[in-house]
Amino acid sequence: MRSGLVPEKTAGENGAIVSTVLDISVVVPVRDEVESLPLLLEAIASTISASQLSYEIICVDDGSTDGSAEFLKQQAQTRSDLKAVILRRNYGQTAAMSAGFNHALGKAIVTLDADLQNDPADIPILLAKLEEGYDLVSGWRHKRQDAALSRLLPSKIANWLIGNITGVKLHDYGCSLKAYRAEVLADMNLYGELHRFLPALAYIEGARITEIPVRHHPRRFGRSKYGLSRTFRVMMDLLTISFMKKFLTRPMHVFGLLGLFSMVTGTIIGIYLTFVKLVLGEMIGNRPLLILAVLLLVTGVQLFSFGLLAELLMRTYHESQGRPIYRVREVVAKSVN
Ligand code: UDP
Ligand code: MG
Repeated sequence: MRSGLVPEKTAGENGAIVSTVLDISVVVPVRDEVESLPLLLEAIASTISASQLSYEIICVDDGSTDGSAEFLKQQAQTRSDLKAVILRRNYGQTAAMSAGFNHALGKAIVTLDADLQNDPADIPILLAKLEEGYDLVSGWRHKRQDAALSRLLPSKIANWLIGNITGVKLHDYGCSLKAYRAEVLADMNLYGELHRFLPALAYIEGARITEIPVRHHPRRFGRSKYGLSRTFRVMMDLLTISFMKKFLTRPMHVFGLLGLFSMVTGTIIGIYLTFVKLVLGEMIGNRPLLILAVLLLVTGVQLFSFGLLAELLMRTYHESQGRPIYRVREVVAKSVN
């Protein structure tokens, strides 16, 4: 084995031991890709074995109905470099990738699609970038081979939005071909369609991120599992991420401030109306301002208490999992013994 990307064993920040006994784990989510699989396995194996690194391929079958699972199981019994993880039903690409990460033993983890749209020949280039000291290297499909209107346009807009909102400027978040240091992934939990936000999540965890152009081929077999409806789900996840990035450890800063502002404005209007009623002796029952004052006071109290609840939840989130609110890259100290 060659010089490692990370130490042989690293304790994750949350105390869990991340055992890394191989150089590379290649994680592939698979749903109905039986025609591509033989070619894919060959391509990955030949690329990586040329580099003398120890590796494993983890194919996660995500509820396929075309025989992919059977093929993978049968292959895994004969090839020593393949681990087949078969999920009970279809959970979606994010969950499939997460299952793969949980079974990975590599110091570096590479993800790619099963449909041969990503080119396994790019894996060594990504790994070389990791060796330069990055924690995450993202592929950029600079000549993307997908339908212009239904895929490329929404993706352009999404990339622009994600870049601006998350602050991680990449050209192509949707590209599955990425390489990570195992320790960075160990700190992250995935939900929804969050796999495309892994760079943003990693950035929240303090990772060093870069991108490099990679090849992209048209789909040869089967068809894409996604349509336009994905755009909406991605946008919702983007909202979650942007909130998490800014306020995860301090929800009161946003809810408390809004609530306070609302309460103060409501109180001022209320005092004014009291003055009008008691001193000037005018009727205030029919004034829209009265409704506004009441509304501001009520929402203010709600926002404020919501902020307090969010603070409690945030503390539970961190403390129950032993998740610190920071991530240490390394600790350097002169050994005393
Ligand atoms: N995939 C999966 N579960 C799903 C949908 C897709 O594991 O529910 C896998 C699929 O087999 C492929 C990858 O995720 O390896 C990307 O899917 P696809 O190629 O359909 O997406 P596109 O490249 O068109 O965005
Ligand atoms: Mg694809």
